[in-house]
This record gives sequence, structure tokens and C-alpha cells, in this order.
Amino acid sequence: AKEKGKNNFQLYTMSMNDKALERLEMEGSLRRALENKEFIIHYQPKINSESKDIVGFEALIRWQHPELGLVPPGQFIPLAEETGLILGIGDWVLREACLQAKQWQDEGFTNLHVAVNLSSKQFQLQNLTNTISKALAETGLEPRFLELEITESVAMQDVEYTLKVMQDLKQMGIKFSIDDFGTGYSSLSYLKKFTINKLKIDRSFVSEIGSKKDDRAIASTIIALAKSLNLGIVAEGVENQSQYDFLKDSKCDEMQGYLFGKPMPPLEFKRLLDSKREL
Ligand code: C2E
Ligand code: CA
Ligand code: CA
Ligand code: CA
Repeated sequence: AKEKGKNNFQLYTMSMNDKALERLEMEGSLRRALENKEFIIHYQPKINSESKDIVGFEALIRWQHPELGLVPPGQFIPLAEETGLILGIGDWVLREACLQAKQWQDEGFTNLHVAVNLSSKQFQLQNLTNTISKALAETGLEPRFLELEITESVAMQDVEYTLKVMQDLKQMGIKFSIDDFGTGYSSLSYLKKFTINKLKIDRSFVSEIGSKKDDRAIASTIIALAKSLNLGIVAEGVENQSQYDFLKDSKCDEMQGYLFGKPMPPLEFKRLLDSKREL
């Protein structure tokens, strides 16, 4: 039994080392990825529920790994946040997305807005107001076309400081939306306190609108809440016609989801824009 215990222990420490090593390697390759320009952005359309016109898009990062292929953000954003690499990555996404919006605006899609996801670390570890003013100045995008998507947990961390940063950005004309709305544990009082423009109904409530009465009730209640607070409202993860019909009837302003378009490379997104223009 003693012998076995010892082996187990060795096995345990070895796997700990393996994990640490793997993490270290991953951190190194994530660091190099930024230098080697291995990140790309896919853009997903947001549509106006009434007209189905494309009103904007969300920037969603992917890692074009030389060996692993296309790595989704869920597999590297957490480590990027832990290591602080999210600052460099976040800054790159912001610039790239603003530049892309400006380019398409110059090509005739003058009212397109761009939504960028922000991590809480980007609020805490840098002067976010500076970073964003610079990105806008250097790309020439007007602040009113930039929308920052934050989750409830971002807003709940270091409330006073976050509030100050958001107020400064709001003053510049930048908009804020609460992502994954309804999934966090925070109280609703922050909706009064923070200068928010829009709520994004989480996909988990949208996906079963067709089959679950409770999810229909939650979705339409979130829409009513947004309306009564004078906030915009967008639903994410809309995949089929019945979800669209329900949300449109419930007066949801904007929608996003596979029904209208998956996140796609810039060229493909431009083709989609052009095809709508020809109609
Ligand atoms: P999110 O902000 O909630 O983004 C929506 C996710 O849902 C995206 O996954 C998108 O591809 C997916 N999606 C969109 N429509 C549909 C649909 O109709 N059905 C289904 N099943 N899924 C849909 P993705 O691209 O893998 O991104 C995952 C998360 O990674 C994002 O969730 C966001 O939290 C984070 N993320 C992505 N890009 C960035 C970034 O540049 N910075 C930061 N900090 N986080 C990012
Ligand atoms: Ca988002
Ligand atoms: Ca979301
Ligand atoms: Ca999410």
C-alpha cells in the first residue's frame, strides 16, 4: 500500500508539472501570436428587427494557430486575462475593428456601428479612456459608432472606478451594452447607476423560446425592462424563424444570430453588405 501511495504521489506531481508546463508553453505561444499577427477577427451582423437591415456588427476574435488551426476565443481569452496579455490583444482588436468600421463607412455603409467585447482587466489594468481615444483618433472612426460590450461582472468590479471610466467614455459619445444580460448574479440597481445604452439578451434565453414558456417570459420581461428604462435591446443567438417572430412581436429592436449570419471573415462580411445594397 505504501509503495502504491508513493507512485500515486509521483504521478500527481508529474501531472502538476505537465499542467504548469503546458500553461507556460501556451502563454509563450499566445505572446508570440500577437507579435506574429496570428489573431484574426470575424464579424457578425446585427440587424434591425423591422427592416432586417444590417445596422452594425460585433467583432469576435479567433486565433489562427499555425498547427492547431482556428482556435475559438473561449480557449485562450481566460489565459490572456490571467496573464495580462489581454491588454495587448484587446488593444489590437479595438484598433482593427474601428479601422474596419471606418473603411466600410467610407465605402458607403455610413451608419454601420461596431461592437467590441471588453474584459474587466481592460478597465482595471490600464487607462482605458486613453487607449480608446487613441484608437478612435488613429482610425478616424467617430466615437458614436463604437459600442463596448461588457458583462454584468465587469460592471460589478471596483464599482466607483468603473463608473468613472464609463462616464468619461460616455461623455466622448461611446456607447455601452450589457452582454449576456440575465446570466450574472448582480442586482438590477446597477442599471440605474451605470450609464448603459443597451441590454443584450443572453443566448440561453433565446435558444428555447420556442419550447419553454419560462424562457419566453424572461425574454419579454427583459425587453419590457429595457423599454421602460429607455434602453436599446438586442437579442443574441437567434437561429430560427420562430425565435425571430417572437422577439419581433415582443418589440426587440435588434437581433444577432446564425439566422442572419455567422461570425465571418471581413471579405465575406463585405460581400454580405454589398448583396444587401443591391436589393
Ligand atoms: P459573446 O460576446 O457572448 O459572443 C457571442 C458568441 O456566440 C460568439 O462565440 C458567437 O460566435 C456565438 N454566436 C453568435 N450567434 C450565434 C447563434 O445563433 N447560435 C450559437 N449557438 N452561437 C452564436 P465566440 O465567437 O466563440 O466568442 C465567445 C466569447 O468570447 C464571446 O462571447 C466573448 O465573451 C469572448 N470574446 C470574443 N472576442 C473577444 C474579444 O475580442 N475580447 C474579449 N475580451 N472577449 C472576446
Ligand atoms: Ca459580446
Ligand atoms: Ca453574449
Ligand atoms: Ca458570452
